[in-house]
Amino acid sequence: MLNERTAFREEMIAGYTSAYGRYLRRVPDASGVMAIGAPRSGKVAVVVGGGSGHYPAFYGLVGRGMADGAAIGDIFTSPSGEQCYRVARAVDGGAGVLFTFGNYSGDVMNFGMAETRLRAEGIETRTVLVTDDVLSAPVTESDRRRGIAGGFYVFKTAGASAARGDDLATVEAMTRRANERVRTVGVAFGGCTIPGQDEPLFTVAPGQMEVGLGIHGEPGVRTTEQLPAREIARLMVDTLIAEAPADAGVRAAVLLNGLGSTKYEELFVLYDGIAPLLAEAGIEAYEPEIGEFVTALDMTGCSLSLFWLDDDLRPLHDASAATPAYTRIGPNGSDEIVTVAAMAPGAIDTTSAGAVPTEEPAGEAGRAGKRARAAVAAASKAIEAAEEELGRLDAATGDGDHGAGMARGFRAAVTTMGETPTTARQTLTRAGVAFQDAAGGASGALVGGCLIAIGGALPASDEAIDGPAVAMALAAGLETVQRLGQAQPGDKTLVDTLEPFVRLFQERAVAESTARAWSAALPAAESGMRATTDMISKRGRASRLGERSRGFQDAGATSAYYILRAVAEALADDIES
Ligand code: ADP
Ligand code: MG
Repeated sequence: MLNERTAFREEMIAGYTSAYGRYLRRVPDASGVMAIGAPRSGKVAVVVGGGSGHYPAFYGLVGRGMADGAAIGDIFTSPSGEQCYRVARAVDGGAGVLFTFGNYSGDVMNFGMAETRLRAEGIETRTVLVTDDVLSAPVTESDRRRGIAGGFYVFKTAGASAARGDDLATVEAMTRRANERVRTVGVAFGGCTIPGQDEPLFTVAPGQMEVGLGIHGEPGVRTTEQLPAREIARLMVDTLIAEAPADAGVRAAVLLNGLGSTKYEELFVLYDGIAPLLAEAGIEAYEPEIGEFVTALDMTGCSLSLFWLDDDLRPLHDASAATPAYTRIGPNGSDEIVTVAAMAPGAIDTTSAGAVPTEEPAGEAGRAGKRARAAVAAASKAIEAAEEELGRLDAATGDGDHGAGMARGFRAAVTTMGETPTTARQTLTRAGVAFQDAAGGASGALVGGCLIAIGGALPASDEAIDGPAVAMALAAGLETVQRLGQAQPGDKTLVDTLEPFVRLFQERAVAESTARAWSAALPAAESGMRATTDMISKRGRASRLGERSRGFQDAGATSAYYILRAVAEALADDIES
């Protein structure tokens, strides 16, 4: 169901807020929603978020007793740092902000940038990552695990703790504790299709099932014959019980989650197999919930989460909440909700929302400025042409959005450049800011951040830009990518393309023109890109696949090469003309 593909997210948010105005509203000038009554002075603000395509995660859980705000990304793509910042800024009530979201590289980087910015402005901010997917990494590396349906309990805990007036340190501690005590295992029988695309993002062979498949189609840990419901029940319960926290206790809340196309009736059949197994294992199933909590568009499959309650967590689990997707009346009756609902909405500080980095006065655009423009335009064209290929490469080990995200980023960058040339420094920093915001995801943060860093490291005056200055700026760009993403050469990322390129360019730029040095360094980028095929992914969402990530060329390394190649051509053209 869609009109124009590019308008999908906007129209989705517009329809949602128009229907659910009794719980929440749009954050002015931002891709996000905030609860009615937020910001509340003196209350910790809980902000969730991530890509869309997972409803009711995340923005379905904004309201009273749960999240105060949600940042909303494109389908399966993290919201940009800018949008996370704006949402947090809008709901901050002076007692600090707690970010909580699934552990995905793009989200970690984008929310991380927002956190840095909020802290610099004196807003105390903490982050709790959801890491409940037991099959996404071994228990010894549980901090690398992804966040899936168990996140529901983590968000519920955070929201209830903040709603009863806990301070930021307590809300953070409770939320962390919830994450440490929730475990999820998922299975999938079929892929999902992004609205407007003809093909599913991935497929599961008929009659087969994927155990541990990610909610963006990241491949599972193993493929097996499709099992009858009662055997799936056993597989799920056994997997989770083997993972019970040390001081588990006997009482666990249970969440049986459908991924989008597996229906309630099927889940009830499955639960009929799960309930006796839990009892057999000595687990008291506390207030089981069966339904859709974290979906993956129209994916077929489901997940089971156990949330081992203790005396601290149970009251938070039980507290009242009222959101579009989840409402419950706690032991204190509906009073809690009514009281909160009756409170006047706080004043929204829109002056700060939408703040953009301060601009320097425009210097005179010289040759370097024009070349920077031409380079961005050429890169944009090259990415546009490769959009599908990049999507396919990303789908092999990730979520298939790399081409779309990069294309979106460059379109925004080109639009931002406008008609009037500016200095190279301004052109690239502005392009980077626009790119970062429009692209979202891991590559939005990284490639946008790289452009901003390159621009920021160039001399302010175009006159002063020569080969060595460009080399230094490129090194600053690479440094930013590595600082944000923590990737080393060999980790199967765009760093494998960039690093050898920058190194060789630095050597050549001492004695040669920028255009020549650029062309001379290009083959190093190409071999760096090709070498990623045989690597095992160590960073980003593909890193949970281990050996299964081998044999595919990395999407980010590929787009980086296409960009560098397009820039080489643009620079060469400039010399000829
Ligand atoms: P997402 O992972 O959010 O879907 P994209 O699909 O746009 O983002 O980009 C994926 C690419 O980003 C990967 O192919 C890889 O090159 C790069 N990447 C992901 N995480 C990191 C990281 N931590 N450091 C460096 N590069 C990364
Ligand atoms: Mg991706």
